[in-house]
Amino acid sequence: MTLALGKRHEWVMQSEIRAMSIACDRRGGINLSQGVCDMEVPVEVRRAAQEAMEAGLNTYTRYDGIAELRRAIAAKEERFAGLAADPETEIVVSAGATGALFCTCLALLDPGDEVIVFEPFYGYHISTLVAAEAVPVYVRLEPPDWTFTARDLEAVVTARTKALIINTPANPSGKVFSDAELSLLADFAVSHDLFVFTDEIYEHFLYDGRRHVAPATLRGMRERTVTISGLSKTFSITGWRVGYAICDAAWAQAIGYFNDLVYVCAPAPLQAGVARGLEVLGEEYYRGLVEAFTRKREMICRSLEKAGLRPFRPAGAYYVLADISGLPGGDDKEKVMYLLDRTSVAAVPGRAFFNGGGEDLARFCFAKEDPVLAEACRRLEAL
Ligand code: PLP
Repeated sequence: MTLALGKRHEWVMQSEIRAMSIACDRRGGINLSQGVCDMEVPVEVRRAAQEAMEAGLNTYTRYDGIAELRRAIAAKEERFAGLAADPETEIVVSAGATGALFCTCLALLDPGDEVIVFEPFYGYHISTLVAAEAVPVYVRLEPPDWTFTARDLEAVVTARTKALIINTPANPSGKVFSDAELSLLADFAVSHDLFVFTDEIYEHFLYDGRRHVAPATLRGMRERTVTISGLSKTFSITGWRVGYAICDAAWAQAIGYFNDLVYVCAPAPLQAGVARGLEVLGEEYYRGLVEAFTRKREMICRSLEKAGLRPFRPAGAYYVLADISGLPGGDDKEKVMYLLDRTSVAAVPGRAFFNGGGEDLARFCFAKEDPVLAEACRRLEAL
């Protein structure tokens, strides 16, 4: 037999995160490796999805989502980020932010197009680009504040550069791009005529009084930006697969057609649940999220410090990168395995977020119910 797997499969092989989750399960450990948020889903969201199912909203929806949800997303973006969008032509509901980015890449990139990505990166961004036959090009962010300069960007841009990905707040670094950085990126995108794909899935997870700025709201950015987000994290519904892209109608239509091709639509009754959540949950819900996650951030950072694993305190999102160079082991993979063996707490080796490098780092996810997180912290402190 001469049958063989296609070349693309190499890019979607078992990721470090999945591998650590499996190793963790095998030991019955506490999994701080995967970004799975196991918090409670707001009752309004659950109930509206159940009602929609009972009322018969169980067939395909319009390829870009039900009208209530597109309208609710438009209202929320306007209210929260000052980003105005026409719900009829400029919003595509997809299978999570992941689906929205994939369809965006299929619709707007050609094979060989280069896309600038900040490093440390979220691995799915890279795999998505490669699956679309685009070429990721890296700009490294420097710790402790994960900074970059205009020179770093100019050094990598070429005639083939087509787009830039901005993930703010970022996974895994927790970086929240400052106003000055966003304006630098906007000037750069305008001067090189680039698309900007954002990933704003952690837009409601910002600490120490920071506020979210949607890059599309900066001067010259509205027409070139595809704003991507979703409710997986905000409503703790990672398994529901509801996210969206907002952009100029010219791009939205093509993105929507790819959404139709790949997913047909996002799950119908779950779209209704999300729409209700966006409509009825007010400021106090979002404030409650920030308070709860600020507390969790403090718990994990304190324990990592006590364990001698210096944390890079995140400004947003719900991950913390920590310096694991002091642990026994030849590299980051061996060090996190040592940690798992000694404490039954799983983290992700830093290499998963770099195109070469990251060996001194591990990522810990703190989106866990308080008792589970407290137990993980107790174990880490005992190290
Ligand atoms: N984007 C980032 C940066 C993430 O960390 C994650 C999940 O970990 C996602 C997107 C996934 O979002 P969704 O569930 O909406 O596809």
